[in-house]
Amino acid sequence: MKTNEFNPADNIQDLQYFGEFGGVNPSISDSSTYTFLSAKTMFDTFEGNADGCYLYSRHSSPSNLYLGQALAAMEGTETANVAASGMGAITSVLLQLCGQGDEIVSSRTIYGGTYAFMKNFLPKLGITTTFADITKHSVVEAAIKPNTKVLYCESVSNPLLEIADIQALAAIAKKHNLKLVVDNTFSPLTVSPAKLGADVVIHSLTKFINGSSDTVGGVACGTQQFIDDMRNVNNGAAMLLGPTMDSLRAASILKNLRTLHIRMKQHSSNALYLAERFEQDGLKVVYPGLESHPGHELYKTMMNREYGFGGLLTLDAGNAHKANDLMELMQHRNLGYLAVSLGFYKTLFSTPGSSTSSEIPAEEQKEMGLGDGLIRFSVGLDNDINRTYHMMKKCMEEVGILKKHEAAY
Ligand SMILES: *Cc1c(COP(=O)(O)O)cnc(C)c1O
Repeated sequence: MKTNEFNPADNIQDLQYFGEFGGVNPSISDSSTYTFLSAKTMFDTFEGNADGCYLYSRHSSPSNLYLGQALAAMEGTETANVAASGMGAITSVLLQLCGQGDEIVSSRTIYGGTYAFMKNFLPKLGITTTFADITKHSVVEAAIKPNTKVLYCESVSNPLLEIADIQALAAIAKKHNLKLVVDNTFSPLTVSPAKLGADVVIHSLTKFINGSSDTVGGVACGTQQFIDDMRNVNNGAAMLLGPTMDSLRAASILKNLRTLHIRMKQHSSNALYLAERFEQDGLKVVYPGLESHPGHELYKTMMNREYGFGGLLTLDAGNAHKANDLMELMQHRNLGYLAVSLGFYKTLFSTPGSSTSSEIPAEEQKEMGLGDGLIRFSVGLDNDINRTYHMMKKCMEEVGILKKHEAAY
């Protein structure tokens, strides 16, 4: 992108906040309820007609609005609503958009919790989901029925790192009068889905955006109308289901968000370094920054280049046994932690087939290419990635994933 075009990190940087006493950080609102000087203003606030007035913190609070504003600036949407978790954001968005008898067409490679919600929970409310290969647009379009309301995908999918063609999907959504909802958790700053035509952009703030693995959080970014609807006291899913983030957490996430651009560049360059070398070593590695990735060229047309191809890569260790041996050894050598989640300063690795995607039945996992030896790496902020590479390579040789090289002497 050219410098005068939309840049998510610049938009965050350009916001200006002052605290109550001129502090350089906004004051934290440590209250669940708010007083009014006149009873009339309280009534107007209830009706949603008193801008800048707070009523009750499940509805909104100054700290949550500051964080929401910064995330909306990042995504280029009118506004945003923060939630207590990514799932809190996802479930309230879907329940706001769908009701009894409605249908969702979703990518089949999505976060396990989202998949379980669509597959196991929503049918209890009369909402059904058709799962499709999101990279095959004719398949997606054929899945759309008259009662379909939502087209759902992840920009970069979990855990297989497929790239969704958001512009093409937005065109399909528009043609059939659907809302395109995109979970952008894996690619903050790199992809700006709303700029490519998405109606609602969701993040789990738990991952890269907060970046310190100390809290869960979520956000839905969209139009003022949609976010107002979600917060409506009479029928808003966010207001009535109550996945409200605490003000103290909103304040701490806002502070971490300010360094996201620096962290993303480091995550991305470290991941690219490892992916290129692992591939040269003959390992089966999937990373959107590699030319061998089927979505590589598409990703280049969609991305804000300077933030790179992201921090996630997958490596196929062949079978679960070897994968487990490798992860345990890497943890033992302090190369990272055997843990789910992503976006931490340390590398995190796990086998999605038996963890974050275990909600997906075994035969479906197999069909989508999610083998039990597949390890997902969320590459950390390592200062010397070449050193990390050599230490990881040694682990791979020791567990028999790579052939041992002849000693140099
Ligand atoms: C973690 C994750 C979620 C769920 O977020 P929580 O904050 O754990 O509720 C949703 N989507 C993706 C892609 C994720 O990685």
